[in-house]
Amino acid sequence: MAMAGGAIRLDGIEKTYGGANGVRAIATLTVELRGGEAVSVVGPSGCGKSTLMRLIAGLDMPTQGSISIGGAPVVGPVPDIGIVFQRDLLLEWRSVMGNVLLPAEIKRMAGLEARAGELLRELDVAGFAEAYPWQLSGGMRQRVAIARALLTRPSLLFLDEPFSALDALTRDQMNVLLQRLQTTQDVTTLLITHSIPEAIFCADRVLVMSGRPGAILDDIPVPFDRPRRLAVRETPEFTAIGRRIREHFEKAGVLVG
Ligand code: ADP
Repeated sequence: MAMAGGAIRLDGIEKTYGGANGVRAIATLTVELRGGEAVSVVGPSGCGKSTLMRLIAGLDMPTQGSISIGGAPVVGPVPDIGIVFQRDLLLEWRSVMGNVLLPAEIKRMAGLEARAGELLRELDVAGFAEAYPWQLSGGMRQRVAIARALLTRPSLLFLDEPFSALDALTRDQMNVLLQRLQTTQDVTTLLITHSIPEAIFCADRVLVMSGRPGAILDDIPVPFDRPRRLAVRETPEFTAIGRRIREHFEKAGVLVG
């Protein structure tokens, strides 16, 4: 199901905010994400995870180096991308369906009602299409935000700490849903998280980031088949990956989930 359209290449990028004597957020970094791949970035606050995402999305420009998506250089905001933040940013005065269809209105794309219904079904909130955001729990609101992000079939899905505000059980459910979506949607996924188990469970690959300026300390493949059950977290292979990530942070003197 991998598509070249969603392949991301970062070549020798660096990011300094505020001129030569400013904050160096990212040190020289080269990495490639394959189309259709699910990649997690785990690391402590301030190591440049959000900056990395903003650079790929074309919301900010690197100080050095280049970024391309599907072979095309990123020179401005990338339209073909769905983004989910910790805050769901749903419009309270619109129904669930109205919220999910919002990107179609903004991009003037017609005929996406069936797609919206199908996404709500996949995210187990089809029964709430006519409900309003205030009638939903935090986890359900975030499901709607994910459906909205995927509506126009973007080739990239970026999630920046999407489940950090949810309780532990809801977060587990969201992890299961997210990795299930990755078996049905042809999308390259980049998940930023502070949680080591979440980073492993949801991804095909974990990038371990740390430092100021931020650097990638490790790039770890995750070998488990999909769809995954939460029980995979109890296996020795999963525990070993978690230990490998924690050891990087211990060496760097930081504490992460
Ligand atoms: P993370 O997402 O890992 O918490 P960020 O990418 O938000 O890290 O930030 C990395 C570093 O860059 C931090 O030191 C932060 O203070 C700094 N930074 C982020 N955005 C800006 C900005 N717009 N202007 C100046 N410094 C910034």
